[in-house]
Amino acid sequence: MGVAPAGCETDPVPERPHRGDQPTRLTYLDHAATTPLRPAARDAMLPWLGERFGNPSGDHRVARAARQAVDEARDGVADVVGCRPGDVVFTSGGTEADNMAVRGVHAARPGPVLCSAIEHDAVRNPVALVGGTTVAVDTRGVLDLDALDAALTPDLTLLALMSANNEVGVVQPVAEAVELVRRRAPAAAVHTDAVQAAGWLDLRATIAGVDLVAVSSHKVGGPQGVGALIARPGTPLRPLLLGGGQERELRSGTHNVAGIVGMAAALRAAAAERNAQRSRVGALRDRLAEGLLAAIPDAVRTGGGGAPRLPGTLHLCIPGVESEALLFLLDEVGVCASAASACASGAHQASHVLAAMGIGPEVGAGALRLSLGWTSTDADVDHALRVIPAAVDLLRGAEDRRPEPAEAPRA
Ligand code: PLP
Repeated sequence: MGVAPAGCETDPVPERPHRGDQPTRLTYLDHAATTPLRPAARDAMLPWLGERFGNPSGDHRVARAARQAVDEARDGVADVVGCRPGDVVFTSGGTEADNMAVRGVHAARPGPVLCSAIEHDAVRNPVALVGGTTVAVDTRGVLDLDALDAALTPDLTLLALMSANNEVGVVQPVAEAVELVRRRAPAAAVHTDAVQAAGWLDLRATIAGVDLVAVSSHKVGGPQGVGALIARPGTPLRPLLLGGGQERELRSGTHNVAGIVGMAAALRAAAAERNAQRSRVGALRDRLAEGLLAAIPDAVRTGGGGAPRLPGTLHLCIPGVESEALLFLLDEVGVCASAASACASGAHQASHVLAAMGIGPEVGAGALRLSLGWTSTDADVDHALRVIPAAVDLLRGAEDRRPEPAEAPRA
């Protein structure tokens, strides 16, 4: 990440020493994994990490102040996503929100559950746990609506379809899927994981049609470890966690006040600059894509094929290189990227998303996800265009083009 664009001030990421004392410019292209904390979020959080430390469930003035902060944050989240404050259930993040949607609805109303074949593991694993099945996507990475139509049964309990995919960034036809479900399985609930979409798409239209929505703070510039499940009134839902009965008995546990306040501030900031960032970051991403495809002509841009993609995501499959080796070399020269979704072990497994799109393991072995975000700059794209083709050449055996670390900016 280079110099922050006007209106997006952030602390510079410290430069990393490289090859002796030579500093390396840091180019962060992994915003889909997590994006830097927005100043507005940090400023909103600070008092709640210091002198304002109350437990919102208490009765005295310190507790009441914390409760008021959580209530105001709830209003803020509801305003941005377009629901009633009472529909917002604060959670520990997107994973918990997705688990709660799938397992909570299934516990309240057992029955068949469906999800797309490209859901994040936070949806896929709970769907598997309750005996659910997946619906195919096409080679663009878009849900196959005919396959959904064929899979729908009147006793369906839940369909989970993400708003946009975390690996290839392809936006999913949520409204069309909802329409099919309402017609063919009117009693079913529809959940959308909007964790990746929340920073880029106006969720109001999505939320108007579905019953449950998962969002995560750290993908929009809020702190890690906090998120929300939006649950429309009347949706059958049981809690995952039992305890003190917070969040209207739906999510027990003392509130993460600073995190909740930070998430609301981040969502507000992201919404305020959404249109400007969509075109600014989209243009950067397009320049990166064109440059890389020109320099590495046999690289394949994954997904999309006319279907809309998130503006920040570029996914490529590069023949003749192993993702892990490429990521290692890129890290050496200060470019942070990823192969697919981040996973706790750091181990790269074959991507179920690419497999669902019909991309075989040989092609998928060279997967590279470059995800830009609110702090991305032209200098990031320039740096990436300098070092990625050289790293690919190096891995393919052309030693003479070993990527050189870019000079660190002086300011
Ligand atoms: N869903 C999607 C689509 C994601 O990309 C992620 C995180 O990568 C999650 C869910 C999990 O969110 P969290 O990291 O807040 O648990």
